[in-house]
Amino acid sequence: RLVLGIETSCDDTAAAVISETGTILGECLHSQKEVHLRTGGIVPTVAQQLHKEHIERVVQEALERSGVDPRQLSAVATTVKPGLALSLGVGLEFSRSFVRRHSTPFIPVHHMEAHALTVRLLQPVPFPFLVLLVSGGHSLLAVARGVDDFLLLGHTLDEAPGDTLDKVARRLSLTEHPRCSTLSGGQAIELLAQQGDHLRFPFRTPMGQTYDCCFSFSGLRNQVNTTIEKKEAEEGIERGTLLSCVNDIAAATQHTVACHLAKRTHRAVLFCKANGLLPSLAPTLVLSGGVASNQYIRKALGIIAEATGLRLLCPPAKFCTDNGVMIAWNGVERLREGKGILPPDADVSYEPKAPLGVDLTSQVKAAA
Ligand code: ATP
Ligand code: FE
Repeated sequence: RLVLGIETSCDDTAAAVISETGTILGECLHSQKEVHLRTGGIVPTVAQQLHKEHIERVVQEALERSGVDPRQLSAVATTVKPGLALSLGVGLEFSRSFVRRHSTPFIPVHHMEAHALTVRLLQPVPFPFLVLLVSGGHSLLAVARGVDDFLLLGHTLDEAPGDTLDKVARRLSLTEHPRCSTLSGGQAIELLAQQGDHLRFPFRTPMGQTYDCCFSFSGLRNQVNTTIEKKEAEEGIERGTLLSCVNDIAAATQHTVACHLAKRTHRAVLFCKANGLLPSLAPTLVLSGGVASNQYIRKALGIIAEATGLRLLCPPAKFCTDNGVMIAWNGVERLREGKGILPPDADVSYEPKAPLGVDLTSQVKAAA
């Protein structure tokens, strides 16, 4: 069985054809990151326009590289939730007409479920497992119990960690920094942090008095901004021109993000153990999303995993960020289970907001 996966939920137009065993036969990705970097954030109408311009070619190239004819496909799997409405709409519209034209079954995919399960394409990871997803748009802890069976333990109450790192990087004008001009905010901060002292600015770890598994990053961003402003004033320099201690600010910011993620994850593991939500034999923690590429954050999660007897799995960067393969893989998982497969003429709509699984966030808090 062969599945075509299509992803347009945010700023990447991506497609991939994979086999039932997870062999990647062909893939193609067009990233809009450079355009959005210039405008300092995603403008939805611009993202929509770029998806429209590229989707036909991206899907065509993925198919051509795979040598698969559309008639050979067992299904087309497409992200329909959550994401930017205008972006989701392009992928869904394209997929709808594609499956009608070729009479292919259609599988609507939840973007975060796909992120969570991608690890299973790379190696056998039995359900249930704990997963921490951290990216530019999301931050959540969940137990994956099955293809369409998730327990949500925590999520961000304001912004996502990648977003925070991007905003701090922008505040420091890191795109003008000679070593960082082509890097995302998170990458720039990781690079500079290597030469910084994370103890120089003791930022408070967020939500120290809230005993649950939710996240908050906007308070940290305020602390960092205040520090930057103070330093700029001290040196009597223009906004966004600080050079003297950017490495230390980067290191301290990264350290605080890592501590926050590690503490919430530790609590999630304890909650899972107390409630028998993870297998007693070789329980697994999966770390994914764009921010998971960060080696410092990986190390912090590694310490938690080791201390609690979990094995930490972190897919390679290309599988952590948005891609077509993960959507195709979700299609394969659903085909295997016979779950959520629709006829080509089914009426499907996209959902910009879509929670992941059963919400246990208040139970976690009550148990603490
Ligand atoms: P989502 O997947 O939630 O829809 P997205 O497309 O922004 O959102 P990704 O492509 O998974 O998310 O990740 C991009 C984010 O990851 C950016 O915010 C970027 O700064 C961050 N990021 C990338 N590399 C690193 C790194 N090495 N360290 C920290 N953050 C990083
Ligand atoms: Fe994503």
